[in-house]
Amino acid sequence: MTAAVERNLMRLPPAQRAALVETNPLILLPVAAVEQHGPHLPVGTDALIADILLGGICRGLEPAEPVLIAPPLYIGKSNEHLGFPGVLSLGRDSLAALFQATLLQLRAWGFQRVAILNTHGGNTPCLRTLMREENLRGTVQLHWLDTQCPDTGLPPREQRQGLHAGEYETSILLATVPKDCAMELADCQWIGPENPDTAVQAESAPVTRAWHSRDLSPSGTMGDATRATAEKGRRWIDGAVQHLLHQIRTLP
Ligand SMILES: [Zn+2]
Repeated sequence: MTAAVERNLMRLPPAQRAALVETNPLILLPVAAVEQHGPHLPVGTDALIADILLGGICRGLEPAEPVLIAPPLYIGKSNEHLGFPGVLSLGRDSLAALFQATLLQLRAWGFQRVAILNTHGGNTPCLRTLMREENLRGTVQLHWLDTQCPDTGLPPREQRQGLHAGEYETSILLATVPKDCAMELADCQWIGPENPDTAVQAESAPVTRAWHSRDLSPSGTMGDATRATAEKGRRWIDGAVQHLLHQIRTLP
C-alpha cells in the first residue's frame, strides 16, 4: 500500500493512534475489487487505482491535516464478472456484512468520521444503500468521495461506454505500473451502438437493463484500451487527486 506510514492505521504505534483519535480525524476507507480487466490489465486494477490515489492524497496533504487510511476492503461485489478467470467476489451480502462490521469497529476505536474511497462501480449501489442505513443507525458520520478525474477530455463515446478496462483505467496503470499492462493484447470493445436508436442500454441511458460482462464484451474490455497512454494517465491521476483533496478538505 502506497499510503504514507504516518497515515496508515495498520502501522500507527498505539500511543500515536490514541493521540490522533483526539483530533477527530477523517478516516478514508478504500473499497475496490478483484476481477477481470480485459486481456491486458491485472485483476487487481481497481485496488491498484485506489492505492495510487491514496498515495497522491498522502503526498498532497499538509502534515497537520487529520486524515488517516483504514485497512482496505479490496475484495468487493463483482458477480457481474463471474465466469471470467481471476474474479474474487464477496457478493452483495458479504460485502455489506464486512462494511458494516468495519464501520462498527472503527467507531469502537474512537473514530467518528469516515469517507468511502471506492474505485469499483459494481460496489456503488450496494455501498450507497448501506451508507444511508448506517447513517440512520448513527454508527459514524459517512461521506462518499468521487474518485474520478472530473475533466478527462475523453471522447464522448468513451465517456458513455468506457465502463471498464478502457482508455481511462488503462492509462492510469500505464502511468504507474506499465509492467503490469500487456498492451499488445489491449483491445476495443463497445457495449452498444455509437448512436443508439433505442432507449434501453446497459448504462448511460434513460432506461437501463441488468447486464453481465459477458453480454457486453467477449474480451471483458468495455471501451477503447488501445487509445491509452501514460501521459493521459499521469494527467488524470493528478486531476483525480486534486479533486479528492478538495472534497476531503470541504467535508464537515
Ligand atoms: Zn476497474
